Amino acid sequence: MAKKFKKGVWLHNIPKLGGKQGIDRFVKRYADAGFDLLVPCVKNANGLVDYHSRIAAVNPASREWDPLEYMTAQAKQAGIKVHAWFCVNLEGDSGKLLAEHPEYAALTPDGKRARTGAGWFTCLARPEARNYQVRIMGEVAKNYDVDGIHLDYIRTGDNVCFCKICSAMFKKVAGVNFKESRWWQREIPGWYNWRIGNVTKIVAGVSKQCKKYKKELSAAVYHAFPYTMITQSQDFPGWCREGYLDMVAPMTYTPDPYMMQAYTRGHIANMEGKTELWEGLIVGYHGSKSKSLLEEVKLAKKLGAHGAMIFEHHGISDALLKQLARI
Ligand SMILES: [Zn+2]
Repeated sequence: MAKKFKKGVWLHNIPKLGGKQGIDRFVKRYADAGFDLLVPCVKNANGLVDYHSRIAAVNPASREWDPLEYMTAQAKQAGIKVHAWFCVNLEGDSGKLLAEHPEYAALTPDGKRARTGAGWFTCLARPEARNYQVRIMGEVAKNYDVDGIHLDYIRTGDNVCFCKICSAMFKKVAGVNFKESRWWQREIPGWYNWRIGNVTKIVAGVSKQCKKYKKELSAAVYHAFPYTMITQSQDFPGWCREGYLDMVAPMTYTPDPYMMQAYTRGHIANMEGKTELWEGLIVGYHGSKSKSLLEEVKLAKKLGAHGAMIFEHHGISDALLKQLARI
């Protein structure tokens, strides 16, 4: 039988907690509910960070004091772990990377900058863009008393990049321009493996930093593996095999417990090595109520996952938390 089923929570927007007292309440809330892990977002989708970085641009709300430093101290006292969450390949207009190097923006096949939500994807074929992300995660691993680093947006973006460098690579391996290509020409190993390799270089780089400073490394990944290798250049079982990750949380965001089970079985089958699988489950997706979330958390436990990551704090009511604490 599996060991204790673990639980963690993602937290969007640390400033929204409302300062130190808000952090105190946040930490106590989940420690009291028997949770094992807090994953606060420290690099936001706009590229700004909520810690005192020497490299990245700091969110104005976090310049007077360092919320990450404060939260890690409180969490340590409460006996709950913290992984600092980075939206890795997302940069906003106010973020430092694209402000200084707009040429690193990832491009769609139409030559437009590739956007998702609040941010822009960057071209991960550029060592400078990859290294920037590794450096900012490395400074947190080195300078903060966190238990680990958490990777999100650790992917190229769907159907990007087609900058000069990437377009030339596609032409080289496929023999045609992307726009003239058919779908089967896009699944050639020389193309998608190259894109995956660029993402994996970031994972490998951060893993090295984490091992150096004795931190864990976890990742939120797309749930529909293996197709996400083609669409998002994301090979989380490969990262597990290489020993880069300690925990992986596929974002299995479906309101249908039947589908959720199908995905979870696939994740378990694809897991290798010592990496833990925590199913990422969402509150209120597509109108689902907490009933389906609770059912999915129970199913994750029953199917043999090591834990569940809940998305996200601001949507979890006290009544729901009480029920989650019992699983
Ligand atoms: Zn590119």
